[in-house]
Amino acid sequence: MSSTITTSSLGYPRIGRNREWKKLLEDFWSGKISEEQLRAGMSGLQLQHLKTQQQAGIELIPVGDFTFYDHVLDTAAMFGVVPPRYGYDGGEISLELYFAMARGSAGATACEMTKWFNTNYHYIVPEIGEQTPVLTANKPLAAYRFAKEQAGIEGKPVVLGLYTFLKLSKGFPAADLAAVAERFLPVYIQLLQELKQEGVAWVQIDEPAVVTGLGAEDITLLERIYETIASRVPGLKLLLQTYFEAAEPLEALLNLPVAGLGLDFVHDGGANLESIRQLAWPADKWLGAGIIDGRNIWRSDAAAKLELIRELRAFVPDGQLILQPSCSLLHVPVSVQGEDRLKSTVRNAIAFADEKLAELSLIAAAAADGQDRYAAELAENREALSLFRALPERGRGDVAEQVRRLQQLPDSRSLPFAERQKVQRDKWQLPLLPTTTIGSFPQTAEVRQARLKWRKGVWSQERYDAFVRKQIEDAIAFQEELGLDVLVHGEFERTDMVEFFGEKLAGYLFTKGGWVQSYGSRCVKPPVIYADVAFVEPMTVMESVYAQSLTRLPVKGMLTGPVTILNWSFVRDDLSREAVANQIALALRQEVEALEAAGIEMIQVDEPAIREGLPLKAEDHEHYLNWAVRAFRIATNPVKDTTQIHTHMCYSEFNDMIDSISAMDADVISIETSRSHGELIVSFEEQEYDKGIGLGVYDIHSPRVPDTREMTASIERALRVLDAGQFWINPDCGLKTRGWEETAAALRNMVEAAEQVRKAV
Ligand code: GLN
Ligand code: ZN
Repeated sequence: MSSTITTSSLGYPRIGRNREWKKLLEDFWSGKISEEQLRAGMSGLQLQHLKTQQQAGIELIPVGDFTFYDHVLDTAAMFGVVPPRYGYDGGEISLELYFAMARGSAGATACEMTKWFNTNYHYIVPEIGEQTPVLTANKPLAAYRFAKEQAGIEGKPVVLGLYTFLKLSKGFPAADLAAVAERFLPVYIQLLQELKQEGVAWVQIDEPAVVTGLGAEDITLLERIYETIASRVPGLKLLLQTYFEAAEPLEALLNLPVAGLGLDFVHDGGANLESIRQLAWPADKWLGAGIIDGRNIWRSDAAAKLELIRELRAFVPDGQLILQPSCSLLHVPVSVQGEDRLKSTVRNAIAFADEKLAELSLIAAAAADGQDRYAAELAENREALSLFRALPERGRGDVAEQVRRLQQLPDSRSLPFAERQKVQRDKWQLPLLPTTTIGSFPQTAEVRQARLKWRKGVWSQERYDAFVRKQIEDAIAFQEELGLDVLVHGEFERTDMVEFFGEKLAGYLFTKGGWVQSYGSRCVKPPVIYADVAFVEPMTVMESVYAQSLTRLPVKGMLTGPVTILNWSFVRDDLSREAVANQIALALRQEVEALEAAGIEMIQVDEPAIREGLPLKAEDHEHYLNWAVRAFRIATNPVKDTTQIHTHMCYSEFNDMIDSISAMDADVISIETSRSHGELIVSFEEQEYDKGIGLGVYDIHSPRVPDTREMTASIERALRVLDAGQFWINPDCGLKTRGWEETAAALRNMVEAAEQVRKAV
């Protein structure tokens, strides 16, 4: 390739084509393989990933991004940041300690885990204490040597930047950020000096935290960090890498004394290019241009990318342009090669990590050497995309027309909540503090095996349906026996709360091997929205109606909400997320209508993922919440006043969005209360939340059976804050991961707790 454009990769998926990485880890944890075998297997994978990138023609190949669990945990471990409860007293971090921090051990609970920016990847939160950081091992250096020795690759070490590392950590007051940074600067300098001594040319310093918004103090801190590094490690070329959003103010970042700046030109809403147009690009600075979408699975439009490159070259001095994916490819699956079940028009429009690297090489070559030399490849790209775009299911007139009409309808229910509440009280005649559950009951091995037999065609539809009916019968009898007030059918027919609906709606496809890492060895295979989403036929009516036929108590219908379905899928990128959410909302609205028409008049529409869709920049939150709330309302508002809409959200960080939750206008929302010790209820009170609240009085994530006293305490705490008439009593999430025995014991205690409190008020 011509020397004027360089190609780079920011990180490669760890999991392997067939999730070999997961298997190695889980085999090690369960004692099936030794540490030596684990290390050998991991080295093999690491080498394979390096070679794959090399063969794809990538020039700056990342090293040090590979990990045994999580790259943030690696960084903490590298600097000896270990919480005191693990009894660590210096030296190299053993594998045992490393995994104990990730997963907990007999003596110490695991470190907290949270979402990596707005992705579905979760990192281990470093707990920074008083200790003086030390460089316990130089992981990027080891990875650099490995790549050089094993594959002759002159790698580009990837280091999590100090600013981002601290922003993602806990254990110190935010006001101390600059002081804590001073403590860590020496070890960062040592790490970089060792790289320089080794002869490393480029280092990728990941600083994604800068995209969440920079105040004056942040800029001062970044200056302090990078000026210190520049003076102590002169001559080492740092590429300060940002991603997931626009880097603003760009000027401040361009002023930092680093050799290059990496920007995301895919997820920045066009702002990065706009900033570059406004500013003069410094003559001595390299640009790492993230042009290939590292977050989604669609093939790039080569012509559009070439046009972008043409414009960037007008600003960036010749020879200082690096083309790269928008972020690490960690967020996309490995290879499309095994996807032989997809029709070719669709398959040819999908690119996973390997295909993205090939795309990058092609586009860079065409930009450097002239498009004529790659005419055939570029024509193939153009044709594949135009065939895909022309698929009739991607431009359905009927869907567009219905969504348009829906937008013109009012999005509210016919009566405001206060009046609905009266008619609903008359209709339902529920006791004070009604008890219920969140939807799913244990998905036992028997249930999973039955589904597998049916999927493989070993069981007929009739046989499988009869099996599910039997599960429902048992679940209804079980709930009646326990004395619950509002029942559920148990969700035995569902694998996953998004996949189940995806399989029944138009517009979805499912990959065979489209896995991505979610946390640790856990991978998810998000379904793909590739076309217009639309209702085909009732999805949940049969099971709900059957359950209702077995009891005189109310049975809740059970749906996943439009925003959660959206946020847990790979989504087509030619429409706005809002537009896709509206299509899903329209389809769910039809399901809600079908349920109501069939006599199901309590309907729960789960939205556990509503928070996950929040944009990274605070100024964009309102817009997102507005359309997200509206999608929920569209899905749920056609019902009668007496029909009761429930919703459920699992996590506790809703304090700052109670307005939006209220605007969803669900009659009842169930939330988690046991782990947050009722803090959330206080926020609801402060915001004068007046609708029903289901108190998640026990943590379903633990097999422990909580006793009645714990639950009455949690209920009483809530009653001190808000009126008893507002509350429902339930577990904090669905019970599908639990066993029947513990479920029975816990629910028995829960019903008992509700009865005790009822008597007391
Ligand atoms: N109704 C779903 C269940 O009970 C809700 C799951 C969730 O909130 N994640 O499984
Ligand atoms: Zn939940």
